[in-house]
Amino acid sequence: MELIVEDAVTVTMAGGAGPAGPPGPARSMLIRDGRIAAVGPPGEIHAAASPGAQVVRLDGATIVPGLIDAHCHVANIGYLAAGADCSQPSAPGIPAIQARLREAIGQTLEGSWVTGSGYVEYKLREGRHPTRAELDEAVPGRPAVLYHTSLHACVLNTAALREAGFEDGQPDPPGGAFGRDREGRLDGVVYEGPMFALFERNLRHDLTRMGAGQRARLVAGAGRHLAELGVTAACDADLRRDTYAAFAEADADGVLSQRIYGLVVHDEVDWLVTSGQRGRRSDRLAAEAVKIWSDGGMSSRTAAIHGSYPVPPYGSGILYFERGELTEMVRDLDARGFQVCIHAQGDRAIETVLDAYAAVLAGSRANPRRHRIEHGGAMYPPLIARAAELGIVVVSQPGFFSTLGDGFAAAFPGRRDQLYPFASWRRAGITAAGSSDAPVITADPLLGIRDAVLRRTSEGHVLGPGERIGVQDALALYTRGAAFAMHREDEIGSLEPGKLADFTVLDANPLETDAERISGIRVLATVIGGTPVYQSEPIFPA
Ligand SMILES: [Zn+2]
Repeated sequence: MELIVEDAVTVTMAGGAGPAGPPGPARSMLIRDGRIAAVGPPGEIHAAASPGAQVVRLDGATIVPGLIDAHCHVANIGYLAAGADCSQPSAPGIPAIQARLREAIGQTLEGSWVTGSGYVEYKLREGRHPTRAELDEAVPGRPAVLYHTSLHACVLNTAALREAGFEDGQPDPPGGAFGRDREGRLDGVVYEGPMFALFERNLRHDLTRMGAGQRARLVAGAGRHLAELGVTAACDADLRRDTYAAFAEADADGVLSQRIYGLVVHDEVDWLVTSGQRGRRSDRLAAEAVKIWSDGGMSSRTAAIHGSYPVPPYGSGILYFERGELTEMVRDLDARGFQVCIHAQGDRAIETVLDAYAAVLAGSRANPRRHRIEHGGAMYPPLIARAAELGIVVVSQPGFFSTLGDGFAAAFPGRRDQLYPFASWRRAGITAAGSSDAPVITADPLLGIRDAVLRRTSEGHVLGPGERIGVQDALALYTRGAAFAMHREDEIGSLEPGKLADFTVLDANPLETDAERISGIRVLATVIGGTPVYQSEPIFPA
């Protein structure tokens, strides 16, 4: 099987760690057996192809390497996508949310909660969270939950509050809060800690009750969504045995769209090893890395920092492991050959993680397993220097600027310009990878690329103009950088002979597009291993 793709602006991102060369006009690419055989001028490509090769003309569209999301929650994306879509424009106000939830009742398994997601209270016509009473009107007889798009809050109806064991008059739990009406009764809104616990409980509960076909549909739904956004590979940042099983079933059925690189939650590592699932299951599914959380989140103000937050809940955040304990965990995993990926947002957490990595890497300047810091939000200059010296890979989320940035600015008023310091990472020689943390925010990599360039919040503040990076470097985050972060730079991340034919076709070249307009570029096709997994119109032979 040979395919010639021509009349395309080809942004190869080739050239190792340095900047990629300028894209030549109307270059061509030859694909053979799912891999790139050649990239070059049309004459050369035709000469290299066999006579029967199929030819696809892209009429000047742009090809970039398949976009990679180095940290998202693929199973969660699929799980929420299977419920009611209460995002905009599907649900511009609370009556529409009620209608979407009503429609979802029939598709919800008996014994599971009716689920909706994607709302943002300040974008609704009513400008507030829906209430328990409004959810009761839509779903009167059984538990229903509506997740906020941030996944830091949700609304429960009365049956769900009861099943969760939440009662009027109950004090706020540690690490969380309840919304209350004027009489002090629970209004159904649940914030932070208990919300995370509910989400995990519901996901685990529903996955175990689903049949194999339903689980495969969940995975396929996430894959379709990511494919529409141009994503060809992703790290699932909290793989567990049940979500791994769902991916493996989808892989066996041939419906796993993206290449999934699983970060297995640390307390399931023994399961991973004894079950024999460690390593590559196929060219679409691998579990070779381990995920640890060292602290809380930025928008929930639970990231572990030095000093304290000037906004509720006013503390210094939550550090899950002290230095000694974390060091022993990393040492053990490193000795067993695992890449370790540690969620660290606050400066106190990042310092602790770097201490652990430094102790384990013991003065060696290389970081052969490519241990990572996930997020790295408050990585201030001395920490950047240490991370660079240790060769730590940072996997971060520029898309947070336009979606959550105003909340960060309120929580870090004196340090807001130093958060997510992409330019400083680059200057320090740190390999950074782009990602979304979806479904926390949208998985759209073009939005992330735009935000890495603009660093502008939804209220219009630019957080750290000096930390803006150019669009080529921003694209590198989601291609070369992300491929490196998942040990796949020999196979994906650039368009070069011998690599897998994973690429994304765009209707404009992001390198030549005004930064403001990058997130409006349309994905025309997403191709994995030479096979289209998404096309906005028929371009490639399926
Ligand atoms: Zn995450």
